[in-house]
Amino acid sequence: MPRRTWMTVIATVAVMVAILAFHPSDQFATVRRAIGLGAQRPLPAPTVVRAGGTFSYAMTQPGDDSEPVGWDPCEEIRYRVNPSGEPQGGRALIDRAIARISDATGLAFEDEGDTDKRPFPGGVKLFGRADPVIIGWAEAAEYPDLADQVAGVGGAIAERGGGGSLHFVSGGIVLDVEAFTDAAVAQQPRVMEAIVLHELAHVVGLAHVNEPMELMFADNSGQVGFGPGDLEGLARLGSLPCG
Ligand SMILES: [Zn+2]
Repeated sequence: MPRRTWMTVIATVAVMVAILAFHPSDQFATVRRAIGLGAQRPLPAPTVVRAGGTFSYAMTQPGDDSEPVGWDPCEEIRYRVNPSGEPQGGRALIDRAIARISDATGLAFEDEGDTDKRPFPGGVKLFGRADPVIIGWAEAAEYPDLADQVAGVGGAIAERGGGGSLHFVSGGIVLDVEAFTDAAVAQQPRVMEAIVLHELAHVVGLAHVNEPMELMFADNSGQVGFGPGDLEGLARLGSLPCG
């Protein structure tokens, strides 16, 4: 019989789509093409291994539900952490989870330092660069999605690039201060890290699946690592063409 505690249910995906007519990255891509430089990945593309797992994309390209929306692998995913409400050891959880999602996707992340911005709504500006992904801690009073047994929420924001397809340009993760206590982080660091990792997988483009072996199962029942479907989906999201 399932026993549900506050830690057994993690996260709902929060994905917003913003489609803008213009973004500076389009301009840079045009400049790169004009001077004959192809865009280059900071990190090599991962190997896609089909191991019979289950995965699902958070968003697919309009008109083609087999083509996922992901980040441009030739650009670093910039992020900032809001330290307000951070438990002891909280930053180390984020650092380790970022390293693991980067390994699984071949996507490069760039820590732009602390911020006092809140994770949602974040995102796309009409002019200038999109905001970085914001990671922070909060109460359900501020983010009602954290009510009941949800320990975290993560998602990304997409916009239309120069080639006409959507790609993610910003996002956010909110972690529940009621779940991420000093004691929980000290006593169950692997479980708490897995919650951050699950939210990061939402940010890079995975949705929930109905397979308890996968980390993208909505209810965490002790899964602390990626399952075979998680790994295949993350590798595919990290292997999209640049631009
Ligand atoms: Zn989730």
